[in-house]
Amino acid sequence: MKKVHDVTATPLDVQPTPLALLLLGREADPKSERGVECPGDLPAASDPDLVERARAAKAKLGDKVFVLGHHYQRDEVIQFADVTGDSFKLARDAAARPQAEYIVFCGVHFMAESADILTRDDQQVVLPDLAAGCSMADMATAEQVAECWDVLTEAGVAQDTVPVSYMNSSADIKAFTGRHGGTICTSSNAKRALEWAFGQGEKVLFLPDQHLGRNTAVRDLGMSLDDCVVYNPHKPGGGLTAEQLRNAKMILWRGHCSVHGRFGLDSVADVRERIPGVNVLVHPECKHEVVAAADHVGSTEYIIKTLDAAPAGSAWAIGTELNLVRRLANAHPDKQIVFLDKTVCFCSTMNRIDLPHLVWALESLAEGNVVNRIRVDEETEHFAKLALERMLALP
Ligand code: SF4
Repeated sequence: MKKVHDVTATPLDVQPTPLALLLLGREADPKSERGVECPGDLPAASDPDLVERARAAKAKLGDKVFVLGHHYQRDEVIQFADVTGDSFKLARDAAARPQAEYIVFCGVHFMAESADILTRDDQQVVLPDLAAGCSMADMATAEQVAECWDVLTEAGVAQDTVPVSYMNSSADIKAFTGRHGGTICTSSNAKRALEWAFGQGEKVLFLPDQHLGRNTAVRDLGMSLDDCVVYNPHKPGGGLTAEQLRNAKMILWRGHCSVHGRFGLDSVADVRERIPGVNVLVHPECKHEVVAAADHVGSTEYIIKTLDAAPAGSAWAIGTELNLVRRLANAHPDKQIVFLDKTVCFCSTMNRIDLPHLVWALESLAEGNVVNRIRVDEETEHFAKLALERMLALP
């Protein structure tokens, strides 16, 4: 998986050029990327008719297609979304559209998997570019997590441990969670998920985002940083002793989001100096010290609602993905809304879904050719659904 693409020194009020990003996902690199190739003809990014072609293919498909657009998608793609939202909302929206034969998910791989899990078997979920993965989800593989469970078993703590997995995880990890009596959470309900889990057992194994796990445990549940340990899948025994595992309440998987993980204390200090009186609002996938230094912390939906309710003339520095921040800045010209960091930062894998890939997917579907279908096998789906249903039943 490639690293986040950085375009340095581009202020937010200048529209960053999409050119460099348009190149991502075009070339097959079988060593580091999965399924980058598009069978058939991918339209050229320079084709002036792309918008018209997308419109025509979508109109031809009518109610048969339902296009989902994640908040972090590019504007050129979002304009064709029937609904926008975070990954869980989108998966539920898809499930509420049984008449749609095709669900085109403009997001990343784990989101399309979740949509496949929650929709009917005869609904086909399509990801316009198979290389649109998530670096965080890829940081926890099924084999690594199974090995971790063996380590916990050997330390004698597995029976007291409840797995809680963030929505941003593969279907395999969700299924592991379901199999071991755990639940899924989103950044909106992580507190409730942890409270529920601590009612079921003494410890939580939190996957795969260490920051969301730590921030929720410390900020919302009043734990101390010493209650948390980090399990590193690249070290024998996770890099932890049996005693450390026995003493810990939160066993955090060593994963993080490449976008939110880049914000540091210096970003907060710098923006406070540049914009006196600015409100710093960050996503809980940010590092603990950043969250502790911020004025407000919350999920994508929380960020959107907070800015909707903010008074005219107020100033905000937002620590989340740039496409969303830029759209929010455009939607609220009466407020000063800037990206938290001085340098811009898109989620590069999200940005793989561009207009040429969307046109290619829609036109293929309009011709009756289902491309890039995302399917979760029956057993994985069964256990992943169990974990998702536990989340839906959270008090
Ligand atoms: S923003 Fe972070 S968590 Fe979201 S898809 Fe990109 S890498 Fe994954």
